[in-house]
Amino acid sequence: MDTPTRHEQHGRWPQATTLDDLERNLAAVRARIAAAARRVGRDPSGVRLLPVSKTRSEAEIRLAYAAGCRELGENKPQEAFRKWEAMADLTDLRWSVIGHLQTNKAKLVARCAREFQALDSLRVATALDRRLQIEGRTLDVLVQVNTSGEASKYGLAPDATAAFLRALPAFATLRVRGLMTLALLSADAGRVRHCFVRLRELRDRLRHDVADAAALSELSMGMSGDYEIAVEEGATVVRVGQAIFGARATPDSDYWPAAATPT
Ligand SMILES: *Cc1c(COP(=O)(O)O)cnc(C)c1O
Repeated sequence: MDTPTRHEQHGRWPQATTLDDLERNLAAVRARIAAAARRVGRDPSGVRLLPVSKTRSEAEIRLAYAAGCRELGENKPQEAFRKWEAMADLTDLRWSVIGHLQTNKAKLVARCAREFQALDSLRVATALDRRLQIEGRTLDVLVQVNTSGEASKYGLAPDATAAFLRALPAFATLRVRGLMTLALLSADAGRVRHCFVRLRELRDRLRHDVADAAALSELSMGMSGDYEIAVEEGATVVRVGQAIFGARATPDSDYWPAAATPT
């Protein structure tokens, strides 16, 4: 499979300003997901598109809702919480927090999120569980794994994941659904694909080795520049922002430390 990345587009996606733009972009992304799935004999309905709305205004998000989006991903807990509060009238809109969490922000996630995709420490699991008990809620969680080996990425080392998963059943409010990763931001499609293969193979091994890993069905991998490759390698969730909403003004280093520029 020689599907290229679109990381060279990073920061250059055209802005979606109208309902039409959003509908067209969503349809284009869905068509590309479906085509990628079919290339490898997968059913496209097995891939969930999570639109990522970070930095986007309330007006833009309401347009996305009008275009049919019923779930949105936000990297930062404060931003997710603020938007959740402001758009409480959209009662069927669900929020997924996909970025690094500090324990002092666990309360925000416990209150507003339906899903948290970046679990990578027991300290955060403990803080979330305590807050969720208070709220009387449960939370779907994905464990973030660092598959690129870059020091700048959050997530557990692949070989630390089994022990981590074995500790999670102690937290009754956390529903472990699968694994999440960010690939290398590189124009070298082979190296990007390698990150996705690594996550899938890890998930398959863990399903075997970790007693309670039957719940490991989800693989959240792929963003605007590489979601087609991720789907070819088994992604069940893709997190796509810029290809739907347009390029972001804020640099990636706002979201993960010292993010590498595309290579
Ligand atoms: C922003 C973000 C994405 C989406 O990136 P795009 O380039 O906008 O598609 C995916 N995953 C995480 C964790 C993010 O923070």
